[in-house]
Amino acid sequence: MQRVHRVVRHGARRHDCYPMRIAIVGAGIVGVTTAYELAADGHEVTVFERHATPAEEASFANAGLLGASQVLRWAAPEMLGPQKNPLSLRELRWPWQRRRAGDPQTLLANRARLQRLALYSAERLRTLSHDLPLSYEFGLGCLWLLRTRRDAERARPLIDALREAGLLLREVDAAEARAIEPALASDTPLLGAIHLPHDAFGNCRQFTMGLAAGAEQLGARFRFRAEVTAIDRAAPATLQVAGEAAPQRFDALVLCTGAASATLMRTLKVALPLTPLHGYSISAHVHEPLRAPRGAVVDLHQHVSITRLGRRVRVAGVTEAGNVPESPQDADLQALYKALRAWFPMAAQLSDGVQVWRGARPTLPDGLPVLGASGLPGLWLNLGHGAAGWALACGSARVLADLIAGRAPAIDLQGFGIERLRR
Ligand SMILES: Cc1cc2nc3c(=O)[nH]c(=O)nc-3n(C[C@H](O)[C@H](O)[C@H](O)COP(=O)(O)OP(=O)(O)OC[C@H]3O[C@@H](n4cnc5c(N)ncnc54)[C@H](O)[C@@H]3O)c2cc1C
Repeated sequence: MQRVHRVVRHGARRHDCYPMRIAIVGAGIVGVTTAYELAADGHEVTVFERHATPAEEASFANAGLLGASQVLRWAAPEMLGPQKNPLSLRELRWPWQRRRAGDPQTLLANRARLQRLALYSAERLRTLSHDLPLSYEFGLGCLWLLRTRRDAERARPLIDALREAGLLLREVDAAEARAIEPALASDTPLLGAIHLPHDAFGNCRQFTMGLAAGAEQLGARFRFRAEVTAIDRAAPATLQVAGEAAPQRFDALVLCTGAASATLMRTLKVALPLTPLHGYSISAHVHEPLRAPRGAVVDLHQHVSITRLGRRVRVAGVTEAGNVPESPQDADLQALYKALRAWFPMAAQLSDGVQVWRGARPTLPDGLPVLGASGLPGLWLNLGHGAAGWALACGSARVLADLIAGRAPAIDLQGFGIERLRR
C-alpha cells in the first residue's frame, strides 16, 4: 500500500495514512461524520444506506441540542432508563445491566468519559461548521426551567457536576429567566432557571445533509436504498446488499447503524445489549415571532425541550422502551403540546403543517457509545450514542478515523470499547 500525504481542503488538516477501501453502513449523523473524517484522511469511502437520503431515522427531527451540559444531563441515572412500556424478551437483561452500570463509582467514571468525548465533539463540530461552512439553523443559549423547589433540589447534583466539569452556567431567578426568554408565559409557575449561554442548538438533519455533501466533495460515495443484510463472519469487511448477487469486499467496514445495530451484529453472532429508547418531536411554523422562544429551553420537570429552529419551533421529549405501537400515541404527543402551551402558548401555528416524528435513541446499558475495533478483523464500530448522538458524533467520528489510521486519538478512549459489554 502506498502512503499518502493529503492536504484536506476543508479545515486545511494535513493527514498521512495508508489509503484503504472502507465501507460504512448507515448514513445518520454518526455514519456521515465518519464518512467525512475517513474521506478527509484520504480513504476511498462508500456509505451504504437503506433509505433514499441521509438522516431519515434518529437523526431526522431530534431536539437539536448540543453541548457537554446536555450530554451530562442525559447521563443522569434516571434519564437512561425507559419511562414507559415494558421491555421485549430480548431486552429483559437490559435493566439488570443498567443497574450494574449504575453503581456510583461506575457512573462517575462514565460521566467523565462522556464529558471528555462531548467537549472534544463540540470542538470538532465548531471546526467543521466553520470550515465547510455548514448552515443548520444554528443558535446559542439554553435555559433549563425549574418550576418548583423540588425541581431545583433534583437538579442540584447535575448543577454541581456541570460546575465541576468547568462548564459555564448561571442559576437565575424567574425574573432573569423571563428577561432571557421574554416570551415565556407569565402565568406558568417558574421558580428559576439554569442559564447555559454557550450551549448550542440547531437542525441535525440539515447539518448531516451539509456534511454529506462535504464528504462527497472529498470523494466519498453514497449508495442509497442499499440495505446491508449480512456481514460475513469469516471475512467481516465483506457485506451483502439486499437484491445483489455478489457480496462486496472492502479493506475495512464501519457499522454506524444506530438502533438497528443489534440486528446486524446478530448476523455475526455477536450479542449487543442495545435498546431503542423511543422519543417524539413536533415541529410547527412560528405563529408570532415575538411570542416564540429565542433559543432553546428545557422543562426539567418533564424533560421536554422547546427549540427555535429558524422559522419553526420544535418540541421534543418522552422516553419509551420496548415494542412501541405502529403510530405515535396521542398521549405522548399531548405531553409535548402541553409543554408548548404551558411555556409559549402563542408561539406556533398548530392548526396545520405540524410535523410529527418518532425516533429511537440507540442506547447501551451504561449510556456510553461503542467506539473502536469490534474484535473481528476489519470490522469497526461507531454506534450506541443514545440521547446525545449529534452532540457526540463529530468527536466519535474523528477518533474512529484516527484509530483506523493507527494514530493516537486526541482523547483517552478507555471505557468505550465493546469488551466492556462482554463482562
Ligand atoms: C426525541 C429525540 C430527541 C433527541 N434529541 C437529541 C438532541 O437534542 N441532541 C443529540 O445530540 N441527540 C439527540 N437525540 C439522539 C440522536 O438523535 C441520536 O443519538 C442520533 O441521531 C443517532 O445517530 P445514528 O447515526 O447513530 O443513528 P441514525 O440516525 O438512526 O442512523 C442510522 C442509519 O443506519 C441505517 N441503517 C441501519 N441498518 C442498516 C442496514 N442494514 N443497511 C443500510 N442502512 C442501515 C438507517 O437507515 C439509518 O439511516 C434525540 C433522539 C430522540 C429520539
